[in-house]
Amino acid sequence: MTGTDTVVEVLGTEQHACWAERVLPPVEQLAGWLWSVPVPIPDNPLRYTSSYVLLGDDGPVVVDPGWDSPDGWTALTAGLAAAGTTAGEVAGIVVTHVHADHHGLSWRLREQSGAWVAMHPAERDTLPQRTRTADPTERRRAVERWLARSGAPAADAAELLAPLRGDQDPGGMAEPDVLLDDGDLVPVRGRTVRALWTPGHTPGHLCLRDEDARLLLTGDHVLPRITPNIGLAPETERPALADFLTSLRRVAAFDDHDVLPAHEWRFRGLAARTAQLVEHHERRCAELLGVVAELGAPTIWALAEHLTWSRPWSEVGAMRFGAIAETAAHVGYLESLGQVTRSRGEDGATVVRLA
Ligand SMILES: [Zn+2]
Ligand SMILES: [Zn+2]
Repeated sequence: MTGTDTVVEVLGTEQHACWAERVLPPVEQLAGWLWSVPVPIPDNPLRYTSSYVLLGDDGPVVVDPGWDSPDGWTALTAGLAAAGTTAGEVAGIVVTHVHADHHGLSWRLREQSGAWVAMHPAERDTLPQRTRTADPTERRRAVERWLARSGAPAADAAELLAPLRGDQDPGGMAEPDVLLDDGDLVPVRGRTVRALWTPGHTPGHLCLRDEDARLLLTGDHVLPRITPNIGLAPETERPALADFLTSLRRVAAFDDHDVLPAHEWRFRGLAARTAQLVEHHERRCAELLGVVAELGAPTIWALAEHLTWSRPWSEVGAMRFGAIAETAAHVGYLESLGQVTRSRGEDGATVVRLA
């Protein structure tokens, strides 16, 4: 994720102040029925996930329980206590998407409460245990093949693969009991909260809209400061960026809504913020076309190396995964627009040319 200058009105002023002070923000009551609970993400620049507790007539519903760690569980249960409830009383869990910083704690919360778990069907299909990369060794091989197709030099590939041990278990991800399609009502009795399908960051990403309170929970789809990663899943090569841009234009309509994102701080100004994100990707596409013109027939890796990042390429480190995925997402998008072509080079790596 990359940072940009903000164009939004900050509503979460305490969250914003705490960010500057590098401390975890407090649990906050946003309305009689709604609480914001920061759940820490260990050793991660995102620092925390904002979980939301919706107090429905049938019991609390937790949106994005957060990263599975002892500190995370302590923070989540403390937040539930502040909201006057307990983990055991939770009636339901909704995840905007299945990234570990959102869905990690769902299994534990369900174990304590018997709560239902809801997500979009396209998101369910990406659960680690449902993909061909469920097996850690297989997953490592898939990443290895993906790096080779990107044209990663052997030394870089070895360095990037080193932390991915074959014995790591990506499991523990809760299967859904409830599937939410676009427009479906989230089962929170007493409130009208509707699911809004916003693919891009992930295939089944959901935003949640309370139309009466004029609130939009945006998950990772729109954040006030950073640009969400697009196309991080090595196993899919669909043009996620096209989906993302469509999803951005879709939520721009809720400019008068308070935005409750899963990271950073609450804000208002979705029209300006989504326009900024669209513009960021347009600039990026233009830059990429320029690099393809300059290099002739580069690999994804060579393209990424020549694009500008928030730090020099030699210092991008493990974030090279994200950089490669983002570059591939832009190439896929430009290919869908008929502006570039992709073909297989002699060594098996993908080669990009101007169309
Ligand atoms: Zn995410
Ligand atoms: Zn996230």
